[in-house]
Amino acid sequence: MPSPSLAAPHALALSRLEALAGNLWWCWGDPDGAWLRESAAHGGNPRRMLRALRAEGGALSAYLDRHAEDLARAHRAFEDYMSPAARAAAWHARAGAPCGEGARGPEVAYFCAEFGLHESVAIYSGGLGILAGDHVKSASDLALPFVGVGLLYRNGYVQQRLDAAGYQQSEHLTYDFDDYPLTPALDAHGAPVLVEVPVLGDRCVARVWRLAVGRVEVLLLDADHDGNPPALRAITAKLYGGDSVTRAQQELLLGVGGVRALRALGYAPTTFHLNEGHSSFLSLERLREEVAAGRKREEALARVRATSVFTTHTPVEAGHDRFDPDLAWRALSWLAEPLGLTRDALLALGRWPDERDPGALFNMTLLALHTCAHLNGVAALHGEVSREMFARFWDVDPAAAPITHVTNGVHAPTWQEPAVRALLRLGLGGAGAEREGGDPAWARIHELPDEALWGARAAARARLLTLAHQREAARRARLGLPAWGSRLDPHALTIGFARRFATYKRAALIFSELDRLVRLLERAPGPVQLLFSGKAHPADEGGKALARAVYEASEHPALRGRVLLVEDYDMEVGRAMVRGADVWLNNPRRPKEASGTSGMKVAMSGGLNLSILDGWWPEGFNGLNGWAIGEPKDYADEATQDREDADSLYSLLEREVIPAFFERDEAGLPRRWLRMVKESIATCTPGFHSDRQVRDYARLLYAQARG
Ligand SMILES: *Cc1c(COP(=O)(O)O)cnc(C)c1O
Repeated sequence: MPSPSLAAPHALALSRLEALAGNLWWCWGDPDGAWLRESAAHGGNPRRMLRALRAEGGALSAYLDRHAEDLARAHRAFEDYMSPAARAAAWHARAGAPCGEGARGPEVAYFCAEFGLHESVAIYSGGLGILAGDHVKSASDLALPFVGVGLLYRNGYVQQRLDAAGYQQSEHLTYDFDDYPLTPALDAHGAPVLVEVPVLGDRCVARVWRLAVGRVEVLLLDADHDGNPPALRAITAKLYGGDSVTRAQQELLLGVGGVRALRALGYAPTTFHLNEGHSSFLSLERLREEVAAGRKREEALARVRATSVFTTHTPVEAGHDRFDPDLAWRALSWLAEPLGLTRDALLALGRWPDERDPGALFNMTLLALHTCAHLNGVAALHGEVSREMFARFWDVDPAAAPITHVTNGVHAPTWQEPAVRALLRLGLGGAGAEREGGDPAWARIHELPDEALWGARAAARARLLTLAHQREAARRARLGLPAWGSRLDPHALTIGFARRFATYKRAALIFSELDRLVRLLERAPGPVQLLFSGKAHPADEGGKALARAVYEASEHPALRGRVLLVEDYDMEVGRAMVRGADVWLNNPRRPKEASGTSGMKVAMSGGLNLSILDGWWPEGFNGLNGWAIGEPKDYADEATQDREDADSLYSLLEREVIPAFFERDEAGLPRRWLRMVKESIATCTPGFHSDRQVRDYARLLYAQARG
C-alpha cells in the first residue's frame, strides 16, 4: 500500500515499483533497468531494496524522484508482457493450445524440490533447480497454462566458505520471506490456505505461498509457522539437509501437500509433471483421490499413469532417493486402508516388479515408473543410458524400454551475454536470439561484425575478473589473510570450470599431470588462466576433497595467480562465469553427466566448449563449434579413462585451443576463433534454448498426457 504521506506522483511511482518488485519478471525482462541498479547493495533484490528505502527517512521519496521515468518505462514493459494480447500472441496460443485452454486454471502442474529463479530467492541448490527455474520462465514466455509446485526453505541450501587452507565450510543462512515476491495463497473465502499432510505419524500443517514468475506462478509449501510444533516446523528448513526421515517428510509435503494445495485453490490440472523422483508421492495422493471418488484401484492407477510425466535426471545411483522399507511404511501406512493395499503391496510400488527381497529399499524413481506412463531422460545419450538402467522394469531389451528424451535447454534471456543478445537483435532482426532452429536468419550470423563481437567478449571477461577479484578479496578480508598478490589478466585466454563438485565431474582432472600443465602454460604464446567455482554437498567428502585439490593447485608456486577457486558458486557467479569465460571445460566421467547445462549458457554467450562427449554435447558438437575431449567409448576401469581423457585434454589445449585463441590478424582480431564463436552461438542458441525444451515437453509429452 502506498503510504498516505507521499505526494501523488510519488504514490504512482511507488505503486509501479511495488508491482515490479512483486513479480520475478524483472530478472529476465528488465535485468539492466536503471531502477534495479540500486538493488545491487541489497543482494540484487528489489523487494529488499524497497524495504530498506522505507526504513530510512526520505530515502524512498528521493529514490522515486531519481527513477520516476525509468519506473514508468519498466512498468509499461511489464504490463505489456502481462497483457491478454501478448499472451494470445505467445507460442502456446499460436500452436493451437497443445496443453489445453486453461479454462479451469493451469493445465500443467510441475513439481520440483527446488527452483533456481534468481540468487535472491534461495530455494535452489544446483543444476536441477536451475533447470526448473528456466522451465518456469519459458513456460511464462510461451504462455503455457502452467503452475509450479515446490517447497519454501527457511535456510535454503548451503553457503560455501573456503577456509585459509581451502577446506569447504558449509553454512546455512536464515532467509526472510518478506524479501521474496510472495503472497499468501487465499481460499475462496479469503482465508489463508493451509494444507494438512500426514508425516510419519504426525500431521504437519503447511502454509501455501504464491511466487509470481511472469505470467505463471510457483506454489511453495512452508511448514515453518505457529501451527506446527518445532520438530515439524523444521521440515522445510534445509534443502537436501537432514537425514532420511527429514527427506521423507519433505517429500510427503511436496508430493501430497502439493496436490492438496492445488485442490485448495480450486485448480484441476490435467497433466502432472514429476521433475525428478522427489515428488513421486504425489501419484499416491492422486491415486487416493481417484479411489475416494469411487473408481476401482486398477482404473484409478491407469488414470493417474495416463496423465503423469516423469523426468529422470541422473544415471548416478546416489541421485535416486531410496528409503528403508520401515521408514517407507511409516511414511505411507495411512494410505493402506483407503487404497486397500497391504504393506507389501504398497511397498511394491517403490520396487522392481520382479523384486524378491522383502527388505529391498523403497525407490522414488521406481514409484514414478509404476505411476507415470510418460517418461523421459534429459539428452539423447541420457535417454539411452536410462533405457539400459530401467529396461528390467518392463523385462524388455533396452531399446524397447518406453523412455524417450527431451534434451535440456537454458533460458537465454536469463543467461546469455546481453551484448551478444543485442548483436543478434540487430544482425538477425525479428525475435533475435529467440528465433527458432531452422530459421534461415541464423545463416546471417557470419555477417556479425568481428570487432563488436570481440569487444563484447572482452567486456564480459573483464566483468568476470572483477567479480572473481571481489569474492577473493572478501574471503581474504574475512579470514584476515593478506590481500591476494595476483591480478587476473584481462587479455588472457580464460578457461572456466564451474559446477557442483561431485566426484564424477573430475574437477581436478586438468591438474592430474601438473608438470605437463605447467609446461604447456609456459610455452603458450600468450597468457592463459583458469577460474573454478563449485560447491560440494556438505555430506560429500569426495566432493569436498576435490574443492580442496583445486585450491591446492591454485596455491602451487608455478600456478599462483593463474588459477583461482571462486567461493560460493551461485547464480550470480554462474552468470558471470558462463558469460565471461572464453573456454568452458567440462570433463565428467562419461556417461555419468545426464545433460549439463552450463556449457549451453557459455555457447550462447560466445565462449567455446571443450568437453567430453557426454550429456548434451554429442548433440551440440558439430566439429566447428568447439572441441570434443577423448573418445566416446566404454571403459572397463576408471583409471584408464581418467588417464586417456587427461591426455586428450592436454593435447587439445596445446595443439588447438591455445593456438587458435592467440592467432591474430593485423587488427589484433582472432578471426578463426571468432568464426568458431559465431558457429557456436548460431547452433547452440536455438537448439539449447529452454523455449525449445518447453515446446518439446508441451508437444511430445504434456499433449499426450492430458486427462
Ligand atoms: C547452469 C548452472 C548449473 C548447472 O550446470 P551444469 O552444467 O549442469 O553443472 C548449476 N549451478 C548454477 C549456479 C548454474 O548457473
